[in-house]
Amino acid sequence: MSKTKIEWAEHSWNALVGCSNVSPGCKHCYASKQAGRGLHAHWKGITEKIGTKSVWTGRINRAPDSIFYAPLKIKRGQTWFVNSMSDFFHENADPAWLLEMISIMRRCSQHVFLILTKRAEQAEEFFAQHPDAASEWPSNAWVGVSVEDRKRAYRLDILRRLPGRHFVSAEPLLASLGSLDLTGIEWLIGGGESGPGARPCHPEWIRELRDQCLAQEVRFFFKQWGLDTNNPLAEGCPANINIRKYIADVDPHGKGGALLDGRLWHESPDWFRESAADSHPAQPEPVQPVNSAISTIANAENHNMLDLTQEQAALTETLVKIANALRAATPSERQKLMVLQALTLDWLDAAQSTEREGA
Ligand code: SF4
Repeated sequence: MSKTKIEWAEHSWNALVGCSNVSPGCKHCYASKQAGRGLHAHWKGITEKIGTKSVWTGRINRAPDSIFYAPLKIKRGQTWFVNSMSDFFHENADPAWLLEMISIMRRCSQHVFLILTKRAEQAEEFFAQHPDAASEWPSNAWVGVSVEDRKRAYRLDILRRLPGRHFVSAEPLLASLGSLDLTGIEWLIGGGESGPGARPCHPEWIRELRDQCLAQEVRFFFKQWGLDTNNPLAEGCPANINIRKYIADVDPHGKGGALLDGRLWHESPDWFRESAADSHPAQPEPVQPVNSAISTIANAENHNMLDLTQEQAALTETLVKIANALRAATPSERQKLMVLQALTLDWLDAAQSTEREGA
């Protein structure tokens, strides 16, 4: 795997699970859908069904020790996205759990931890109440805020006052963020929303972010357009060609492509990249079953063009391939496959509910 392909991390460290929506970026929270599947005993009670939707209850659960202490058991340095099924600074998270997690991160200097929050105010409050956590903050733990629109840009000002090295996630980007002061920010990640009901992302909003990163010497990582129709290359799609197929041909990166003015922007901070390079020997190319599953999924993404029976058969076949691929996958491939597995399940759910509604 190429170093520049590092997006967030190799692993999620979901020591805590559970959340609640806090701002517009949460509208299509992927984690709540995932949690609603109830795959683990400790997910109990963190979501409830409202109609067909799985929504957070606001309860936060601690994972079993085998997960909670997982980073301590892995000697080879890894990059960990912390609490992808929660928000580290959620108001209902027990501070004792957070302090213990901070202690684990401090003891695991071989790893890099990425903590992303939409709750900048609660983060500041936490450090005010626990000043030792701020003064002894582990240097290998990055803190970032999500900023999806201009109204949420104030989180950047709070971030600057928090300990740790700082990054920003402008994903899903829902509006122009306008002029930003990126002082103290080392890395900015942008991207459009993907999946059912995704909201549009205008190319000018992304260019505006890139240009400000260039001007203020902040590393810029553009993950994806999210929707094919967001991609500026969509303008060149001939009328008789399906746009999804067209974008998959001309810009086969991420969801909806990721080329911005002719190139990929996959920058990451030197320190992060060097840590990652030191920690991670070159990964072997994905084994064939993984490639096969991924290409089948790419085909399945065109499932809207199939009739329902074909669509369900294709998605089911894809799930079988993913399950087989998971057995042979490396840890980083496994993470990617699990995301794809969840997406495929979403599509299958959608196909089946469409069928039910049509009956
Ligand atoms: S903060 Fe993150 S995990 Fe929590 S609801 Fe919002 S998007 Fe989901």
